[in-house]
Amino acid sequence: MTVALPAHIQSLIETGQRRRREGYRGRFAPSPTGALHRGNLRTALLSWLEARLSGGAWLLRHDDLDTPRNRPGAIEAIEADLLWLGLHWDGPALRQSRRRGLYGSVLSALRRAGLLYPCRCSRRLLADVSAPHGRWPVYPGWCRQRAPVWGPEQGRLPSWRLRLPPGPLGWQERYGPPGRCDAATDVGDVVLRRADGFLAYHLATAVDELTLGISDVLRGADLWPATAAQVGVMAALGFAPPRYGHVPLWCDEAGRRLSKRSADEGLEGLRARGLDAPGVIGALAASAGLVAAGARISAAELCEELTLERFQQLLRRAALAAKT
Ligand code: GLU
Repeated sequence: MTVALPAHIQSLIETGQRRRREGYRGRFAPSPTGALHRGNLRTALLSWLEARLSGGAWLLRHDDLDTPRNRPGAIEAIEADLLWLGLHWDGPALRQSRRRGLYGSVLSALRRAGLLYPCRCSRRLLADVSAPHGRWPVYPGWCRQRAPVWGPEQGRLPSWRLRLPPGPLGWQERYGPPGRCDAATDVGDVVLRRADGFLAYHLATAVDELTLGISDVLRGADLWPATAAQVGVMAALGFAPPRYGHVPLWCDEAGRRLSKRSADEGLEGLRARGLDAPGVIGALAASAGLVAAGARISAAELCEELTLERFQQLLRRAALAAKT
């Protein structure tokens, strides 16, 4: 069934589609749950570089919908860090929290089209029964057949899930094999509105990629599994996804993912070790194999030194090395 979107949203998406066709439009989308750590900073640099080497635009979007997790001052700190590194974004920085009306209207349109259903499975039940049988937990669709009662039951509101039609979901990957998942066995029905009333990240992100006309998403490899869900939401709305590039995460010496909680992993720590902006850019770029270790280079100079082809070749190599 096609989703009848309100005219102003349809026109926003059409403008987005046109912008996407006109050229590269990338984005960096941090969650303001703390200061960026060096892994986030490296992803920001790579995403900025790919956009600038493509002669395209680079947007900054704060994924701040999950308000209890936001840290006061984090948005300002993220922006100050990016500017200090010379990673300038185009246009005003966006905040998902200011776009709730847009996401809510899309959600209502999906609901009117009969593509959503209320789910009352408790977290406990989900944790017990949808135990990972593949690469990650997949919701088996228990509430699909229940009467669609949207109000509270026993004092609890349902979450709202998107009924994903069975079949393959695919997308282009720049630094790895093409993305391919099966909607029923690898993804499952995606939660678009959480039981606590929050609009879900997958909904907001899918709507943003379309309305902002994002042609290319470069982000951390931890978000690869999220891609199928987002591609599924875009498909339900009747649109193709952007191209994706998932880049390796930067881990600590013990191979653990970095956390925003430890401040020494961020710019503050790097500065305390005496690094200035060219020192930090050099360290971030060297860790991705773009320059030799110990290089000092500004973001703008790095852009002049590289070509898009060389950059992508080096990143493919880094992605491959991370897998082996
Ligand atoms: N805001 C999320 C994060 O920082 C998602 C980012 C994205 O989709 O690129 O993990």
